[in-house]
Amino acid sequence: MRRLEAPPFPCLSNPSALESLNRLLAIHSTLALSQVSSATRCTSSQAFGLLLYLEGKGIIESRMLVFHVLDETDPPVPIMGRSLLNGPPKIPFTCERCDRTVEDPNEIHIEYEFKILYPTELIGQRQ
Ligand SMILES: [Zn+2]
Repeated sequence: MRRLEAPPFPCLSNPSALESLNRLLAIHSTLALSQVSSATRCTSSQAFGLLLYLEGKGIIESRMLVFHVLDETDPPVPIMGRSLLNGPPKIPFTCERCDRTVEDPNEIHIEYEFKILYPTELIGQRQ
């Protein structure tokens, strides 16, 4: 178990937010943005910043999951997974699942997935 000082995000100053985040890190292998923001009560953009901070520390790895909104597979299956560094796919491209050409950015839906690489506990900052 790695221990790391929590970054100075205002939404983590509440000890229960940190405790909830540590619980998520302990029981999951991947995290979604919505899980982190609802557990910590951080906004989505704060939670995103927090997860990218943890990626910078080598604790998690982020991926962009691309869904074709015209695909009716239930539950939805991503048509590709990409590094955030590569950004979204260039349009137009051919969807591998349905062979249709994706020409409109509104035809894709992007979600982020954060894979936990190392069990880690965040330690609160002492003022
Ligand atoms: Zn498709």
